[in-house]
Amino acid sequence: MATLHLEIVTPDRVVLDTRVRSVRLPGTMGSFGVLPNHAPLIASLTTGAIKVEHDNGDIEYIAASGGFADVRDNRVTVIADTAERSADIDLARVRAAIERAQAQLAEGGAEAYTQAQETLRRYMNRLKVAQQQEEEAARRH
Ligand code: ATP
Repeated sequence: MATLHLEIVTPDRVVLDTRVRSVRLPGTMGSFGVLPNHAPLIASLTTGAIKVEHDNGDIEYIAASGGFADVRDNRVTVIADTAERSADIDLARVRAAIERAQAQLAEGGAEAYTQAQETLRRYMNRLKVAQQQEEEAARRH
């Protein structure tokens, strides 16, 4: 079966570097899928889930925010602002961060509001991705 090479990096680290069957990415113009032999493409990414279909058929979700993806020659390179594999998402940290952002929102101020909205989107995405992974595990059992 034809595969792609997927690399996901952030300013901190290499999050994933592996062969996959397909990947779905959260483009700013909408989410899009990449299969082997996809045409070359560069796309900017928004906060959302990256859905990876591994070489063995396993499905993995990754919470990502910002950056861009480069697709060429069966290689997909994602350079994201932040990215966490679902297994690495610390849910207690997400919940604490959501509470802090909500308090910031309650304090008011247009600037605080815009910033809190942005960070809340990132935190909620982490929760959603962890949930998607759980649902995937439940489907398999
Ligand atoms: P916090 O307020 O919880 O520290 P933050 O807003 O500082 O969150 P980000 O700026 O989104 O967090 O991310 C900073 C780094 O921490 C990134 O490398 C990101 O992957 C990682 N990270 C953030 N939240 C989590 C989490 N809940 N679980 C695992 N890694 C996380």
